Order: sequence, then C-alpha cells, then structure tokens
Amino acid sequence: MDKHYVCPSCGGVSNHPKECDTQGCKLQGQPLVSCPCSDGRHEGVMGQKDQPEV
Ligand SMILES: [Zn+2]
Ligand SMILES: [Zn+2]
Repeated sequence: MDKHYVCPSCGGVSNHPKECDTQGCKLQGQPLVSCPCSDGRHEGVMGQKDQPEV
C-alpha cells in the first residue's frame, strides 16, 4: 500500500491529499492525515483503539 491519507474520525482514505468529504464527519472539511502504514489498518492515524465514529 502506497502512502495514503486517512481521516482519523471517519476512517476515509484517499491516495492524495484532500479534505474529508464525508457527510456528518466531525472532521469534514479538515485535511486528511498522511499515513505510512502498509497493512491498511492506519494505526498511526486512527490511534490505538478501533473506535470509528460512524
Ligand atoms: Zn472524516
Ligand atoms: Zn494507513
């Protein structure tokens, strides 16, 4: 998995820098965070706990 960008709130992923565009996400309009993970879990961005707010 190449470097990608993740929203730490809703878990949205993009291959390029952008703002979160998820309706209702509390970080909508905020830039996604670059993530270097290779397993798709985005642990560095999402934090230690799996608590995506849907
Ligand atoms: Zn989001
Ligand atoms: Zn990741």
